[in-house]
Amino acid sequence: MKKLHNEEDWRILKKRMEEGSDERVTISFYQYAKLGNPQLFRDYLFIHWSELGVYGRTYVAHEGINAQISVPLENLDAFRDHVYSISFLNGIRLNIAIDDDGKSFYKLIVKVRPKILADGLEDETFDVRNRGTHLGAKKFNEITSKDDTILIDMRNHYEHEVGYFKNAITPDVDTFRDSLPYILDNIKGLEDKNLVMYCTGGIRCEKASAWLKHQGFKNVFQLEGGIIEYARQVENEKLENRFIGKNFVFDERMAEQISDEVVAKCHQCGAACDTHTNCVNSGCHLLFIQCEKCKEKNEGCCSPDCRAVIHLPEDEQYKLREGIDRGMLTFKKGRSEHLDHKTIYKPLEAAIAGIKVSFKLQESRESLVSSREGE
Ligand SMILES: [Zn+2]
Ligand SMILES: [Zn+2]
Repeated sequence: MKKLHNEEDWRILKKRMEEGSDERVTISFYQYAKLGNPQLFRDYLFIHWSELGVYGRTYVAHEGINAQISVPLENLDAFRDHVYSISFLNGIRLNIAIDDDGKSFYKLIVKVRPKILADGLEDETFDVRNRGTHLGAKKFNEITSKDDTILIDMRNHYEHEVGYFKNAITPDVDTFRDSLPYILDNIKGLEDKNLVMYCTGGIRCEKASAWLKHQGFKNVFQLEGGIIEYARQVENEKLENRFIGKNFVFDERMAEQISDEVVAKCHQCGAACDTHTNCVNSGCHLLFIQCEKCKEKNEGCCSPDCRAVIHLPEDEQYKLREGIDRGMLTFKKGRSEHLDHKTIYKPLEAAIAGIKVSFKLQESRESLVSSREGE
């Protein structure tokens, strides 16, 4: 019988990936659809993708599929053929990572979930198909350099901390689910302005844009394929790059370099740095930004407490870790009282107030011009 789950120890697999020299391509894609039997579909994918040597993390639900994976270069065509042989995935865009050493994942996980994205929305209450207008990189650049546009980063604080678009509002939120009502509360009254949103690969904006349209926003736009596809188009079409810094990604690479600017700082000493890491105390695993000097000084730990822990005998460490789910901690929200130099964001209210002032100025300028024209 074919295996339906990965049974090897993750440490061995990770080591194999780190030492491996086979060329791999990091790919992400998603599709909203109606799946009758997600479990069956999940098993089908796992069997085929295992044979093709695919690694990564894929969620399957009644509402569709969300995949972040890596594929051996030599099997890329076979993989694409397989994906396209599934009717609702035929012809979809496979987002190919640009800054990629192929070491993004080390095992294959395909999971059935209630939703492919934890958005906290009740899909029955609005028309999920009535999404925002998709923008390619060129159109995105045009519209986001205009004065009457609100550009919102739909990602979490630790993501936009290392990179964002020029003029973007970056809400200080821990999860996508929490961010939606918070953003809505703050942008009320701006329903007739251009509202542009973006995220890593586009999936978050698919639902968020439809939901905000349902809330009365008339001109809602979203960056098609997210930052990943934007970077690809900018490079291919030689466009102006309006993204500053790194694109945070949810795999072993942690980020893709999009521009050379370093917009973040080490959470321990405040020096310019945009390298995310996880605390080496595996019972903590806090996600934070740490420079090389602090890494050495603190032995890769986020705090003196964690440093003390890693010097305990392994069995004592094990006891401390008991009951802690490592998977849940991998992207622990990167907040800790020990991190003195973590970026403190301006409250969304203040950022929006600034935008409202510039809208007012612009309107009064326009009315001045039109009254002069009428003279
Ligand atoms: Zn430092
Ligand atoms: Zn720690």
